[in-house]
Amino acid sequence: MKMFLEGKWADKPKRIEVKNPYDNLVIDTVPRGDAADVERALNFAERGAKAMAKLSSYDRWKILRKAADLMAARNEELGRIISTEEGKVIAEGRGEANRAVETMMGSAEEAKRIHGETVPLDADPTGRNKLGFTLRVPCGVVAAISPFNFPLNLVCHKVGPALAAGNSVIMKPATDTPLSALKLVEILLEAGLPPEGVQCLTGSGGEIGDPIVADKRVRKITFTGSREIGDRICRMAGIKKVTMELGSNSPLIVMPDADLEKVAAAVAATGYANAGQACISTQRVLAAKKVYGDLLGALIPKVEALATGNQLDEKTKVGPMVKESEAARVEEWINEAVAAGARLATGGGRRGAIYIPAVVADVKPEMRISRDELFGPAVAVTPFDTIEEAIQLANDSVYGLAAGIFTENVEWAMKFAREAEAGNLHVNWGPQWRVDLMPYGGLKESGFGKEGPRYAVEEMTELKMVVFHLGG
Ligand code: NAP
Repeated sequence: MKMFLEGKWADKPKRIEVKNPYDNLVIDTVPRGDAADVERALNFAERGAKAMAKLSSYDRWKILRKAADLMAARNEELGRIISTEEGKVIAEGRGEANRAVETMMGSAEEAKRIHGETVPLDADPTGRNKLGFTLRVPCGVVAAISPFNFPLNLVCHKVGPALAAGNSVIMKPATDTPLSALKLVEILLEAGLPPEGVQCLTGSGGEIGDPIVADKRVRKITFTGSREIGDRICRMAGIKKVTMELGSNSPLIVMPDADLEKVAAAVAATGYANAGQACISTQRVLAAKKVYGDLLGALIPKVEALATGNQLDEKTKVGPMVKESEAARVEEWINEAVAAGARLATGGGRRGAIYIPAVVADVKPEMRISRDELFGPAVAVTPFDTIEEAIQLANDSVYGLAAGIFTENVEWAMKFAREAEAGNLHVNWGPQWRVDLMPYGGLKESGFGKEGPRYAVEEMTELKMVVFHLGG
């Protein structure tokens, strides 16, 4: 495919191969954009921001609504592109394509709800005869930088609200998975988006990332990706609005009163979907000592039932990771934990980019598979004695994106809700659960700012205060 620059599909002599991680075959190529392309995109985006700001709320609603309808009609095509370039199983590819429709629909609805409010200035002793109200205005040029693991829906979480709010957008999708984002551009144009409203640059983030994020013409950066790159972007960005949706090593606490069959089903669903490459994947299972052995007994057969293989085969439950080097990294981290005294309770080992879903027991909090973001199809199980210890272990992380607890005890559940340091908390499910309308984002080094169209349009707008000085 080509990239979309200055209102046209554009090519480059240097191209990047996009591969299916299952068989390593090249499925397409995309242009390798460079700093000169960034400069052209920024100039054009400034003009685009002026054009977008002239559209009415109704115009923006209509475009996004039409885009959502087109995406719904092309679910199978989009689902297959997602699965083929990213490696997630086809049911998850279709699921992501469906969620992306909801994200765009929600963004369309928000386009009609962006408004200010009157402010009772005369509530201040010096405010008599003053009339005040706020106006929400677009930021201008939005840079939307996205990761590989949800190559369509996470792009929609940025582009949908940014367009709903009347901005122009420069998209920079992940180099491993650019095709879904380029398809989204096709759909937006077909839906009637003025070509000035969006551009999509393909190319290495290491090469074109800095010139995008450091430029003063960009007024808002919305980034989803790793903590390391997020940290770099924050340092480069200077004075502009920034949203950071970063990584995690999400914990699930299993209290002694939990229904272990339900826990095991939830862990199998939330720890291994997308081969564990979800930012809110269940990574650390903290199990009360009283149920530790029984929980492993319930979990192991469920994980062993997760058939691995070609992601496009309907029977496959866990496909390849995004690339072989990632599967090799997961293998290395787990081998390191086993060498340091952890126990591989099931799974482990690798075929190309496929890592066999694993349960690692007796994991110490200081081991890398517990402390860092594993981002692979394995969970690390650690015992605890009391709820205080469980919450302390859960919070013993630089991350704070999502956490879960299984218990029937409302006191324990509320203690967890109050004290667990995470942006999204789940009682009687694993940390990996999201519908696209809810406010979503992390605490601590998992980032700041919220996604979910209603919350993201606030991030994509600036608030102005207007005061009328009446009565002479
Ligand atoms: P990544 O390596 O940080 O890359 C994310 C994006 O940043 C890619 O488009 C990448 O481009 C680009 N990039 C690289 N260097 C850059 C630079 N110097 N300046 C600007 N952009 C640059 O992350 P990933 O491996 O794709 O995704 C996995 C990570 O995302 C995990 O940590 C996961 O937890 C996190 N994530 C978080 C959420 C959330 O909502 N909190 C959701 C999903 C994923 P290239 O691909 O060209 O390098």
